[in-house]
Amino acid sequence: MAPPSSEHAPAYPGFSVKYTKLFINGEFVDAISSKTFETLDPRTGEALASVAEGDAADVEKAVAAARKAFEEGPWPRLSGYQRGRILFKFADLMEQNVDELAYLETLDNGKPLFFSKYADVASSVKCVRTVAGWADKISGQTFKMDGPYQGMSVYEPYGVTGAIIPWNFPILMFVLKVAPSLAAGNTTVVKPAEQTPLTALYLAALAKQAGVPDGALNVVPGFGPTAGAAIAGHMDINKVGFTGSTEVGRIIMEAAAKSNLKPVTLELGGKSPLVICEDADLDAAVDIANVALFFNMGQCCTAGSRIFVQESIYEAFVNKAVEKAKKRVVGDPFKAGVEQGPQVDETQFKKILEYIESGKAEGAKLLTGGNPVGNKGYFIEPTIFGDVKDDMKIAREEIFGPVMSVLKFKTLDELVKRANNSMYGLAAGVVTKDMDVANRLARSFRAGTVWINCYHVYDQSLPFGGYKMSGIGREHGLHSILAHMQLKAIITPLKDSPW
Ligand code: NAD
Repeated sequence: MAPPSSEHAPAYPGFSVKYTKLFINGEFVDAISSKTFETLDPRTGEALASVAEGDAADVEKAVAAARKAFEEGPWPRLSGYQRGRILFKFADLMEQNVDELAYLETLDNGKPLFFSKYADVASSVKCVRTVAGWADKISGQTFKMDGPYQGMSVYEPYGVTGAIIPWNFPILMFVLKVAPSLAAGNTTVVKPAEQTPLTALYLAALAKQAGVPDGALNVVPGFGPTAGAAIAGHMDINKVGFTGSTEVGRIIMEAAAKSNLKPVTLELGGKSPLVICEDADLDAAVDIANVALFFNMGQCCTAGSRIFVQESIYEAFVNKAVEKAKKRVVGDPFKAGVEQGPQVDETQFKKILEYIESGKAEGAKLLTGGNPVGNKGYFIEPTIFGDVKDDMKIAREEIFGPVMSVLKFKTLDELVKRANNSMYGLAAGVVTKDMDVANRLARSFRAGTVWINCYHVYDQSLPFGGYKMSGIGREHGLHSILAHMQLKAIITPLKDSPW
């Protein structure tokens, strides 16, 4: 495993951090308090840039701008077709600026540049295009009622929406909330995560360039308990979308209930089971498990973080899984060939190391890894625990890091109960050659997404969201636009019409 380099990002001619202020009413402005906070380079822990720190007063200003844009501005009055055209342009601009966006994402978040470019930005562009394509295809129904009346159902935007997003996929999370909200005709106020505010501000500049009118999109970087709470509890925000921890999701829902009862969509945590059956192709199963857990440094809400392996192939599986984890290249995410960069910040880094200690203390078998890599930044060795039991902390709680827990099972009946025995229900997976088994498990998992013989494969046409305490509502494509609209019934008399 190569030690991470502590060098700064390679010189990218012309690339620098351009936008560090709040984006309100189409302009980059300082915070009312003039406060700033530092966003850090996770490779070194050193400051990258000072960013304006928004709080309740700035959220107030942003909501006022969004309200004015909704009540008086062109955005909700444009046809879906016109809004779609502007969003298509936004997607084109993202694509044209892919190198700069990917660079900023890697700098702020630490994910390998290759993934920033070909996974994060690429899937974000697709997200915007899918939603843009739906913008002119949303329609209600018209029908003759039971009586001399005609009934119509009409989809309308909520008004001003709020979005509070996390740091693990900053660009993707931004567009997953903003694009459908705008496509539906809302105006919006977004709070990016305090760890990764840079790409959200860059995207705001691109949206303006694409023709999103002033006030329709506002971005207020800042902290959760101040800027985030001001959005969740605002009386003039009509809908809020949140992605992050289940703990904070509960706070958001409470704030929404205590203020104006705004509807919420929540995309929360997970502890997703991935089941490896004894008939599975072992090499394929090891590859799938490796991607399921280690992708994005383990910082995926859908991470396959409970790997259930059937008893007869358990030893063979863990041997190969360890061999593969050891080959994983950890290092500077700007270097070609690096598969795993640093964790996003010191808080996450320490939390993960504590989980590793708890796994050891509770009697799980540390098969590989378990230590930080290097002495600078937030790098952690790909780690695998074997002999994990269901009641251990590492099998119940979300670690959000490169720590795989492998559990043994005997029968499918036992497995289904254990796999579903979690407060979470975001995703699940199964690796088997027997499609009857695959179908049976897919239907039995209490989870919003099930992968059969693959993992981490997403599409904007498929709904994404959680069962149980993994969330409320669905994102992606049409599902996400409808989540940003409300339905109205309109009734008119039908005079002298037999039809
Ligand atoms: P977090 O919940 O602490 O923060 C998420 C966002 O909420 C940030 O913008 C933060 O500033 C804000 N926030 C924090 N406290 C707040 C408060 N009191 N009021 C309003 N806003 C507040 O989570 P995180 O550390 O950013 O991300 C890790 C967690 O998020 C994991 O549990 C992971 O599973 C989950 N997550 C889920 C999904 C999903 O799609 N289901 C996606 C990414 C992350």
